[in-house]
Amino acid sequence: MSVDFYGQGQFPPMAFHSEGHQDSMGIALFFALMEKLTTSEFGLVVLDDVVMSVDIEHRKNFCRLLKSFFPERQFIITTHDNVWAKNLINEGVVERKNSIEFLYWNVEEGPVTVVGQDVWNTSRTKAKMDLHGASAFFRREMECHFENICDKLHARIRYNNIHKWDYGQYMSAAYKELQNLIKKAKQQAHVFNQTETINQLDLLESTLKARITTATAENWVTNVLIHHNPDYEISKPEFLAAVDAMEQFCQCFECSKCHTAISTIYAGENPVALMCKCGSYAYPLKQ
Ligand SMILES: [Zn+2]
Repeated sequence: MSVDFYGQGQFPPMAFHSEGHQDSMGIALFFALMEKLTTSEFGLVVLDDVVMSVDIEHRKNFCRLLKSFFPERQFIITTHDNVWAKNLINEGVVERKNSIEFLYWNVEEGPVTVVGQDVWNTSRTKAKMDLHGASAFFRREMECHFENICDKLHARIRYNNIHKWDYGQYMSAAYKELQNLIKKAKQQAHVFNQTETINQLDLLESTLKARITTATAENWVTNVLIHHNPDYEISKPEFLAAVDAMEQFCQCFECSKCHTAISTIYAGENPVALMCKCGSYAYPLKQ
């Protein structure tokens, strides 16, 4: 068997392609065999942790491929990788209500699962069993969450050459960027005397400010989580209050109708609009 490499000729799959590429070829082969060997009545496919060594951009393409090429198949996709599980939901391959997380298992009770729950409810459920584990989970999830927000908003973050940023850095970059974008949207609305839009944006601005204050400045638990200080003992009610405050704050970054993260649309170097997926959250930033 041989494969093309950038139009340079046909080579054995192991000659030039990375492990991730080889994994992708394996999946392609699997799908080809599936089409060839199974009948049309057989619509169920189980994919067990198939994208372990595939990078994030290719994983997103993999999601789109499953969605557009196999709409009549039912996939059961298992993984140990939280980021991949989230990609599948964010890209619309898996509906949130169809995602199941196995929290732990034991011989007496079997597996303990949460079905279709978001990070907030999962954190609350985890806190009932293991507060320390719930805090670690929440911190990791929030880091991932705000990284995604920074990506959507094209937020500015102070560069470092190890390419590693933490929860606090992502969160403050996301906050500053949204604050800045709302200001830009307001300037634009003022140019056209759009009183209603100005009022909406004023409300968004004050809500954002009030909620970050509740989530951080007045909430030492969040600060302990952000700076990961294991010396402080957090109680369960304190942890749950921090989760509530952070959930409220995070709602500032999503559309209240479609619940997708709002993104900044760029034309070249200039942000031109702030939008959600359904279009009900839409503010021009430039004429
Ligand atoms: Zn929307």
